[in-house]
Amino acid sequence: MADRGEVLDHAARFRDVRKRAREALRTRRMTLEELFDQASTDATLGASKVASLMWVIPGVGKVKTLACLQDLGVEETVRIADLSHNHRKALLELARGRLIVVSGPSGVGKGTVIRELAKHTSFHLSVSATTRQMRPGEVDGRDYFFLSETEFNEWIDEDRLLEWAEYAGNLYGTPREAVEQHLRAGRDVVLEIEVQGARQVKTAMPEALLVFILPPSIEELEQRLKGRGDTTNVAERLATARKELEEVPFFDFTVVNDDVERAAGELRSILRVLPKFRMQ
Ligand code: ADP
Ligand code: 5GP
Repeated sequence: MADRGEVLDHAARFRDVRKRAREALRTRRMTLEELFDQASTDATLGASKVASLMWVIPGVGKVKTLACLQDLGVEETVRIADLSHNHRKALLELARGRLIVVSGPSGVGKGTVIRELAKHTSFHLSVSATTRQMRPGEVDGRDYFFLSETEFNEWIDEDRLLEWAEYAGNLYGTPREAVEQHLRAGRDVVLEIEVQGARQVKTAMPEALLVFILPPSIEELEQRLKGRGDTTNVAERLATARKELEEVPFFDFTVVNDDVERAAGELRSILRVLPKFRMQ
């Protein structure tokens, strides 16, 4: 028989493993799929109750977790190791990642705000395909998939793009497969795309959250475009920006990018309320 010390050690380790798993799930550093994978080799995790781990995941919550277990005819106290393949599939579907579309005029600071957001929030940033020329410092496959027009049209024909649009004389599109893979794995996905593409995403996936980043003023937008130094056709981009601003009412939220940290903080708060948003 184990002595009292061993039992206490075991209990402390159990609490510690569960605490770390909850924290990783809460901050979305670990997906539910990864938790299930780890639980198959870690007996402590396997013996943990799935409900109290799952309901900390942003966008999931206690109400939906318990309702799902009830629908599956499973006890609230079920342990991860006792879940069947079908139970796991249903729970993974519930914990699907959220699709967040960040849009707004070129030069408004979408990329800058998203980089700031990434310092404190975990998500997959979709890598778009484009026919535009590579800018200095950009890397194929990291910043964009740089395609010829023929290749881009093949991707359209093969239905490999979730959305696509022409912008300032070039084609831009979101590769579908990577987005779906990450959402299925329970990871949030951010798309940084222009307005026509955002509208297409909302039509294809109405559960997507659409955020429009606004400049403090048109004059400031012009300064930012010029200040970037690597952007061609500034006048055309400004004319497009004026048209894009007319689309603001179509978006779920607007964030003014007056200050990068403030704007990223506001975006983070919006993501914190998203669970409620999805329940409507
Ligand atoms: P987008 O991705 O929308 O095209 P970028 O993120 O490339 O825009 O930003 C355009 C330029 O504006 C960059 O030079 C960036 O450093 C600058 N910028 C972004 N946000 C701000 C801000 N809040 N205040 C001042 N300059 C900013
Ligand atoms: P840039 O040439 O400055 O990198 O991008 C020009 C515009 O295209 C930006 O507004 C950017 O958000 C948008 N964009 C980038 N990728 C995509 C995409 O996959 N789809 C759509 N619709 N727009 C994109």
